[in-house]
Amino acid sequence: MIPFDYHRAATLEEAISLGAEPETRFLAGGTNIIDLMKETVERPVRVVDIGRLGLDAIEELPEGGLRLGALAPNADTAYHPLVERDYPLLSSAILAGASPQLRNAATNGGNINQRTRCYYFYDVATPCNKRVPGSGCSAVGGVNRNHAILGTSEACIATHPSDMCVALAALNAVVQVSGPAGNREIPFAEYHRLPGDEPQRDNTLTRGELVTAIDLPAEHFREHYSYLKLRDRLSYAFALVSVAAVLSLDGEKVLDARVALGGVAHKPWRMREAEEMLIGSPVSERQFAAFAERLVEGAVGRGANDFKIELAKRAISRALTQAAAGTPQSQVDKKIA
Ligand SMILES: Cc1cc2nc3c(=O)[nH]c(=O)nc-3n(C[C@H](O)[C@H](O)[C@H](O)COP(=O)(O)OP(=O)(O)OC[C@H]3O[C@@H](n4cnc5c(N)ncnc54)[C@H](O)[C@@H]3O)c2cc1C
Ligand code: SF4
Repeated sequence: MIPFDYHRAATLEEAISLGAEPETRFLAGGTNIIDLMKETVERPVRVVDIGRLGLDAIEELPEGGLRLGALAPNADTAYHPLVERDYPLLSSAILAGASPQLRNAATNGGNINQRTRCYYFYDVATPCNKRVPGSGCSAVGGVNRNHAILGTSEACIATHPSDMCVALAALNAVVQVSGPAGNREIPFAEYHRLPGDEPQRDNTLTRGELVTAIDLPAEHFREHYSYLKLRDRLSYAFALVSVAAVLSLDGEKVLDARVALGGVAHKPWRMREAEEMLIGSPVSERQFAAFAERLVEGAVGRGANDFKIELAKRAISRALTQAAAGTPQSQVDKKIA
């Protein structure tokens, strides 16, 4: 590991002020940033440990909904009684990710800011525009089985690896941010970016900005939800394709539908226009299949990941069928007390 300065911030103000200095990274649970530093993918001059800032409460909002502290561990979030009761989609998505040990250490703010698992990004001997802007993309024309099929650019075809973020996208979460210019809120759909010609930028945070919390609106979708994650192994593997689906139903009629995809793009993939096709229609396999076609419209494979296009369509239909029937995909419970 390359030497760096370490600061443990005592206050939010101190963290923001230190974080605004060039070549600085925040350290939360450390399950991603430390790996990246060991591989010399990340080479910060200074690391600001935000682990003592508090920011770990999970509390109801006065207008309804829930605020998840940025430093609350992923496990505490997934097993929180209010999350389990009101946002089972989120519990399910978090429990589909990583391992119990990692979920105990990983934080909510760290999860949404984790970096891609593209092999070339981790391999400093290869060109990668995300790691070294302008150096090229080894995955285009390379080993790209895990890579994106939607919203890609010639500069980068990486996916966002988080499971939690796919559920947060479907739930219309809002990210609370504090920075040198004050506080602001970012709707989840605007938090992560498509790669375009700046793949080195994963999200819309500016220098020194820190996530303090993630808000969940009051809409629950307690009855009709499913997080379906398809991967190479049952656990400890990132999604090839995942689907967060929620429905609000009146009998067999769809009142609202939200579907986000993971493993297919540089950000959780959602399309409100496609969801509107389902609203007002009856629950039907044919409608779900038509919706799936629309949601993955324009998908492009790069060879080894061509299979994801068909896999995504089938996964979408299956997740919606499970959500409609109230029989969500079950995640194996591997809690460590
Ligand atoms: C073996 C393995 C398997 C995994 N499998 C999965 C999986 O299946 N699904 C999945 O979703 N994830 C998976 N993960 C990823 C894991 O969920 C993330 O590493 C974790 O959520 C990151 O959280 P952290 O608190 O440790 O972040 P850190 O490593 O501390 O930080 C990650 C990044 O976020 C930034 N950051 C942290 N907190 C904030 C904040 N509050 N504001 C702004 N920036 C911040 C840091 O500067 C850093 O750039 C896996 C990880 C490993 C090691
Ligand atoms: S896909 Fe993105 S992260 Fe992977 S090598 Fe290409 S530029 Fe780098």
